[in-house]
Amino acid sequence: MTDHATIIYRVAVPVPLPSLFDYLPGPAEGAPLRPGQRVRVRFGARSLVGVVVSTASHSEVPAEKLQALEAVLDEGVPVVSRELLDLLGWCARYYKHPFGEVLFNALPPALRRSDSHLPGPPEQYRLTEAGAERSGEGPGRAPAQHRVLEALADGPLSIEALREACGVTAAVMRAVLTHGWVRAEPAGSGEPAPRPGPELTGEQSAVLGAIRGEPPGFACHLLDGVTGSGKTEVYLALAEQVLAQGRQVLLLVPEIGLTPQLLRRVRNRLGLEPVVSHSGLAAGERLAAWGAALRGEARLLVGTRSALFLPLANPGLLIMDESHDPSYKQQDGFRYSARDVAVKRAHDLGIPIVLGTATPSLESLNNALCGRYRHHHLSQRATGAPPPRWRVVDLRSQPVRGGISAPVREAIAETLDRGEQALVFLNRRGYAPVLLCHECGWHAGCRHCDANLTWHRSGRALHCHHCGERQPAPRFCPECGADALQGAGEGTEQLESALSRDFPGVDLHRVDRDAVRRKGELEAVVDAVRAGRPCLLVGTQMLAKGHHFPRVTLVVVVNLDQALYSADFRALERMAQTLVQVAGRSGRAEHPGTVILQTHHPEHAGLATLLREGYGVFARELLEERRLAVLPPFAHQATLRAEEADRGRVLGFLEQALERWPGPPGTAFGPLPAMMERRGGRLRWYLLLQTDKRKDLQSLLDRFLPEVRALDSARRVRWTVDLDPQEF
Ligand code: ADP
Ligand code: ZN
Ligand code: ZN
Repeated sequence: MTDHATIIYRVAVPVPLPSLFDYLPGPAEGAPLRPGQRVRVRFGARSLVGVVVSTASHSEVPAEKLQALEAVLDEGVPVVSRELLDLLGWCARYYKHPFGEVLFNALPPALRRSDSHLPGPPEQYRLTEAGAERSGEGPGRAPAQHRVLEALADGPLSIEALREACGVTAAVMRAVLTHGWVRAEPAGSGEPAPRPGPELTGEQSAVLGAIRGEPPGFACHLLDGVTGSGKTEVYLALAEQVLAQGRQVLLLVPEIGLTPQLLRRVRNRLGLEPVVSHSGLAAGERLAAWGAALRGEARLLVGTRSALFLPLANPGLLIMDESHDPSYKQQDGFRYSARDVAVKRAHDLGIPIVLGTATPSLESLNNALCGRYRHHHLSQRATGAPPPRWRVVDLRSQPVRGGISAPVREAIAETLDRGEQALVFLNRRGYAPVLLCHECGWHAGCRHCDANLTWHRSGRALHCHHCGERQPAPRFCPECGADALQGAGEGTEQLESALSRDFPGVDLHRVDRDAVRRKGELEAVVDAVRAGRPCLLVGTQMLAKGHHFPRVTLVVVVNLDQALYSADFRALERMAQTLVQVAGRSGRAEHPGTVILQTHHPEHAGLATLLREGYGVFARELLEERRLAVLPPFAHQATLRAEEADRGRVLGFLEQALERWPGPPGTAFGPLPAMMERRGGRLRWYLLLQTDKRKDLQSLLDRFLPEVRALDSARRVRWTVDLDPQEF
């Protein structure tokens, strides 16, 4: 025990241990440190970055073992707000993940290192009154200075923008600042100058009225609106009001939803430069966004999953677009659901949150039906365009070439003849999902995974889409030597070559992660398509989200059959979400749209309901099935996952863990193999833990996990806990 006068700092460090660690003040500090400040500490033999979480007056650690902080970083300014520390603490408790890892997952990468620091606000330059007067007098003998004044006439600019506008040099900049014609101020400050949006439809006004009519404070709004119904316009109208009150708005979008198109729209409508944050940004940019959010200069924040953890100095509204999207769940390390944490954060902040989607997850739908969320509907397209017509092509009665059936080929030809565009969707990259030998039946499997290697014909290579394994494609069968290797099944690459043979001379754009890799490439395709010439688009999920293609009137869904009879109870829900989303690309403007679905199972009951009655009815039926089967959202699940090359170790660990499960019979199942048992050379198994009440699952896990941690076998496998798992 230490004496009472001492301050003990409780510090989080990025290690897989559940506790905080105690440190004494360093030799050189003046004022006591505040929670959220970064420090450097000795941890075993290493020196680590840590974050002060709280202070205490005594420690359980014997005084002679307590170490002092090595250094205080960021000149003693907290880089994590109190509110964020509390939220992350909740996350660590709820998801049963070590707090240090949760915290460091939230920090921008630069702040995880001790040699980079939170920079001050970036600057922008504004014309002063004296500067405006001087500008009116003409260039005189200082034309370079005059050009700067003119460039700033329309509003403040960053130094980069100024350089671009008039090639300003450092000397000229110094001159105009010294004369008092221009002054520097933090970037992003200044009032938004919103432009009026389109006149809202009756449905949009009603929704907006209902959301604004709520008493101030927390409310979760599920904005359930068909694609093209103007959800984004509702977000923008809400954001405009909150920004005008001087508060911050955080807009979250799925990983591939963050398009320049969206940013342009937001910027134009709200008259404010959005601050963007996502994991693809350079470290410096993410750090700058963090600082701007923390200090409150960034009024409007737009980002993907990780942006949920930006500090917010003055929050007013959270919006999550496409809130059903699977990319909101982090699938490795700290496995959180950004949707669920966003709702929790809005609740704690006492502000509204809007979850927008055309296809609510069954969890969200259930919350809305129970009255926990307000349920708002937009059933019509905002442009007045009619909903697309559905057609089903039964693949059992059709010849198929390169994945495309004859009726589809005809429909594409007619679409192109009318001068319109068609989009062909298949969520599978490469040329063929399997390469096989027609002599002996050999097929190319991955050495490390229970999966076939995908044949990428253009690169003459075989790729594993699960572990990244790559090898040259063999010319002859490695087993029997025959010249009889052929692809089975289709990928986007094959569709591309089949369609370019069928429709020579027609512009064809393939959009998937192989074809579109560099920044700007997707934009170039989108711009070309929007220019309006008849063309064909072939692609994966990348094409399905967010884009508005006014001249696409035909959407072809090549194959979604895998999901129809999958062992994963969420497969059908996801299939429907994808289908509706892809269909939404069709006929968004004045031209009516058609969607053709190719399937071997036109008789599938769920599929039939979806096509006939729409997602709303389909989802309610599926929800009823989940209720009967006692599956989420009518049960609460967690998995204890383990993986290692050695099956014995994995099973040994899970069996020992299962013996220690404190729950009643019928609440723990397994060990069960993962859907893909072997991946990246590791065998993956899990225990399924399930209770009717969330609270029970939490308290059982709190008793269970310390015992699991204490097992010897726990040190010989990689294991994790996944709360509300989405994958098995
Ligand atoms: P969603 O987000 O629901 O897919 P958007 O907000 O992107 O829908 O709107 C779809 C299209 O309709 C966009 O081109 C948008 O500019 C247009 N739009 C939205 N609201 C209106 C409106 N009230 N009047 C006319 N056009 C609208
Ligand atoms: Zn062979
Ligand atoms: Zn593999």
